Amino acid sequence: MKFKNAYLKLTGFYVLIVMLVSIGFSLSLYKISSNEIDRGLGKQNNLFQNIPSINNTIFDQLDFLRQRQIEESKASLRLKLYYFNLLILILATISSYFLAQYTMKPIEEAYDVQNRFTADASHELRTPLTAMRSEIEVNLRDPKLNIQEAKKLLKSNLEEIAKLESLSSALLRLARGNDNFHKSFQRVSLTEVTEIAVLKMRPIAEKKQILIEADYKEVYIYGDNQSLSELVAIFIDNAIKYSPKNSKISIKVGQNKDTAFFYVKDHGIGIKASDLPHIFERFYRADHSRNKEKIDGYGLGLSIANSLIDLHKGTINIKSQPGEGSQFTVKFKRI
Ligand code: ADP
Repeated sequence: MKFKNAYLKLTGFYVLIVMLVSIGFSLSLYKISSNEIDRGLGKQNNLFQNIPSINNTIFDQLDFLRQRQIEESKASLRLKLYYFNLLILILATISSYFLAQYTMKPIEEAYDVQNRFTADASHELRTPLTAMRSEIEVNLRDPKLNIQEAKKLLKSNLEEIAKLESLSSALLRLARGNDNFHKSFQRVSLTEVTEIAVLKMRPIAEKKQILIEADYKEVYIYGDNQSLSELVAIFIDNAIKYSPKNSKISIKVGQNKDTAFFYVKDHGIGIKASDLPHIFERFYRADHSRNKEKIDGYGLGLSIANSLIDLHKGTINIKSQPGEGSQFTVKFKRI
């Protein structure tokens, strides 16, 4: 168990608190009870002193018996309180151990997620670095390296650097979390943010001769302008990446009763049912071996999208058929 020490410390801490309360309670109870017993004795003494037939010898004997009785009562009370505290100690230890496990579970899970994330991120960062390093080494060893080859090397290095940049900005985006975004929440036109995202992504689509068809209806939600535009762009980016050349992507912004929605629909490679439950996991990438060309990506886009949807209290629905295409629909509360 990874957190064994923490479990034990937390258990000890819980037990300590319970025992302090229990012992404090027992001491007060003992004090009050002893006072009561002593007070009872005082009253009896006065009573016997007023009876004329009781002489001093009998009075002393009675007093001695009463003193013994009182000591016995107090001893019995002490013993009972002692057993009571022993029982509390056993129960507190058992329940504190389970309570400590319950308290530590989310911490342990978060720790595991963080560890996995760091390992995956380091792995992804290493891949382009290793590629760059080996290319440079091979070229440096070549005494006949000419300017054309050197330029080719620089171009290839530049591509790797671009990958590193996009990876580090995705990692930063995830690390930043959603803490401060609510401050920038305002009435936002879903149409406007979608238009901005389409404008940004259109040149990339054109490189693959992909046509983006958009159908907008003016609808407003409460949110952060920039992250909503970022969200739409993630889906368009994926639609372009996973679609063949000369295909079409449809985007729609609309409303239904009190919800506003947008969808991005492509006619690309689609997603297998077995991959669907995992595509929002960080660094998860479905097997793209069906595709001849390698598709760039780190498996971070949809995790970022998911956290942005959560931030806006939205929901997402995916329809996808391998070989036919996918449709990602995101819904928000309309205002
Ligand atoms: P990336 O695209 O960088 O791999 P994402 O987190 O955006 O990472 O997506 C995770 C995975 O989900 C992708 O690797 C891909 O397998 C699948 N996926 C996402 N969008 C689509 C899409 N429009 N068509 C087919 N597969 C998709």
